[in-house]
Amino acid sequence: MSQPYRHYEVVSQLVEQAAAAMQLDPKVKELLREPMRTLTVSVPVKMDDGSIRVFQGFRCQHNNVLGPFKGGIRFHPEADEDEVKALAALMTYKCAVVGLPYGGAKGGVLCDPAELSESELEKLSREFIRAIASIIGPDQDIPAPDVNTNPKIMGWFVDEYSVLKGSYQQGVVTGKPIAIGGSQGRNEATGRGVMYVIREAAAAFGLELEGATVAVQGFGNVGNYAAKFLYDLGCKIIAVADVFGGVYCEDGIDPYLLKDHEMQTGSVKGFAGTAPISNEELLALECDILIPAALGNQLTGKNAGNVKAKWVVEAANGPTTPEADKILREKGVLVIPDILANAGGVTVSYFEWVQNNYKYYWSAEEVDQRLERIMADAFQAVYRAYTEREGVDLRVAAYIVALDRLAVAMKARGWV
Ligand code: GLU
Repeated sequence: MSQPYRHYEVVSQLVEQAAAAMQLDPKVKELLREPMRTLTVSVPVKMDDGSIRVFQGFRCQHNNVLGPFKGGIRFHPEADEDEVKALAALMTYKCAVVGLPYGGAKGGVLCDPAELSESELEKLSREFIRAIASIIGPDQDIPAPDVNTNPKIMGWFVDEYSVLKGSYQQGVVTGKPIAIGGSQGRNEATGRGVMYVIREAAAAFGLELEGATVAVQGFGNVGNYAAKFLYDLGCKIIAVADVFGGVYCEDGIDPYLLKDHEMQTGSVKGFAGTAPISNEELLALECDILIPAALGNQLTGKNAGNVKAKWVVEAANGPTTPEADKILREKGVLVIPDILANAGGVTVSYFEWVQNNYKYYWSAEEVDQRLERIMADAFQAVYRAYTEREGVDLRVAAYIVALDRLAVAMKARGWV
């Protein structure tokens, strides 16, 4: 985004709204107003051509009343301090809404990984983790994957951190490859969690999922699995877009075959039996469920008026601006908020960390069952907060659940 966008302010305003609706103790609100710590680092990398480039990076630790800080690290040209702070705050509320014993954090490195060679990427990853090593740790702050970071990068993080500490520190990072202590089901977890939340919401709000039409923006780790799991439930995936373009088919797209095509060609574009569709057209499609599963701020004051979906399910973090949120509410579109919809990822990260601590590993079935229960319970808690109060949407309801848990913990620890 070219003009400055006040990401952190947007989250603060949501907290204000929820706090007013639930009469939150003002001391709790005050303690959550600013992140507890943000570390800014300069990360030097010797590039393949012999030059040195210094990348800027951040690790923001928002609040840890519920447990060690937890949250991903993204590599992106727009991952500036304000965005990282906002995303760290979202993690505080996300962990609280699903009842995990974690606080919220986020990291970001301002870079475009597409421009880096594999060895430059590895050097950057290792240097970044060294730069933030003094504030992370298995009981302090546990990073994980986010936009443009993946299990391979988590492997480099663990390795570098372990070398620094002089002992193998598996539990310092989640989202690792399975061979070095990653959990079964972690890769699929966010997409699977999106599906569980949709299933609960469909029962609560009376949407028939068999044949329900779904459009997915983003075909990365989250969008890809969300599409597959919804397809398995009987939904009809009518459109999918990635950064290069989109595909549409009224009769439905098989996301498994689409993934094969994407693996072969590098994009969903040109998949047999589909017509091309632009990103904006996808967001404006007539469908039951629209799933933004890419970057933030995709639905804005400019395009939200065009949305014809019945539901918007936020698989991405912060895909809907406050202006868009208002427009969607007025249009009667049900929005399932990010801190609930995409919490499956951090939930299985938690399972990974528990397994690392116990050195005892669960089957994929055990992971899925536990994830299902946590996501279903979280939805029910949010739904209860939603039905108990007048004029509160699901987003504010989710913040109410989260703030309530944070307030109880703050009282119990004597912070307020
Ligand atoms: N980056 C993911 C998120 O935004 C996962 C974080 C984690 O697993 O700690 O929820």
